[in-house]
Amino acid sequence: MKNFVTPLLFALITISGIYPQTPSVEIKYQGHASFLIKFDNGRTILTDYGISDVYKEYGYESPIAKLNLVPDIVTYSHKHQDHYGGVFPDSGSIKLIGPETVELDWIEIKTIPAYENSLTTADNFSYVFNYQGIRIIHLGDVQSLIMNVDDPIVRGKIIDLYKDKFDIVFVPIGFKSYIADKAASFALLINAKVIVPMHFWTNAEKEKFIDLMLIKNGSVKYQVEKSALFTYSKNKNEENTVVVLDLVR
Ligand SMILES: [Zn+2]
Repeated sequence: MKNFVTPLLFALITISGIYPQTPSVEIKYQGHASFLIKFDNGRTILTDYGISDVYKEYGYESPIAKLNLVPDIVTYSHKHQDHYGGVFPDSGSIKLIGPETVELDWIEIKTIPAYENSLTTADNFSYVFNYQGIRIIHLGDVQSLIMNVDDPIVRGKIIDLYKDKFDIVFVPIGFKSYIADKAASFALLINAKVIVPMHFWTNAEKEKFIDLMLIKNGSVKYQVEKSALFTYSKNKNEENTVVVLDLVR
């Protein structure tokens, strides 16, 4: 797998005049829709840090691990409790709840309208993080697009909304009802090298998503990681890899 390298290797190549070393980011999965993204300039972004197991009484498991550091920026796709309201060490973190365009120390953050409960009215936000050419997208909740992925008009809308090339995409694969099969079709419409499933209520959902990804596209690779270290690469057309990140313990 070309995209993940040991920390010793990632400083070897320079991009002349732009940045002193090959940019890299490390990603840890905090659980449900929450990721901790650590940039090699020392900045950190925390996404969708919701309340752990908030809907467990309905049979939905969504553990979110405790955080021990103060993130520089916290992004929220929306204010549903599985995405918002988790308590973390906070000493003036910048909090974003879209629509936003923010730049901080080489990190550009932009939002794209996202559709959870309607195909026509956006009700949350996808976040795009661009760090010196490394493009990461956290889709937020886009389940209405996922559930209607077989509709040609909706497919066109998905491709139009997410037309850029991404290095990493975080894809929600669970909803009130089972959507893992459609989430796999949806994920293959997003032009991303690394596909990371999120927002699932059971491990069975996650495993089904992986199986379906492998069936739907024979060139997709699959790996499990404790955390992912991703370095900048000019080649945006490498093969898709589904990376399942273990929950931080
Ligand atoms: Zn949600």
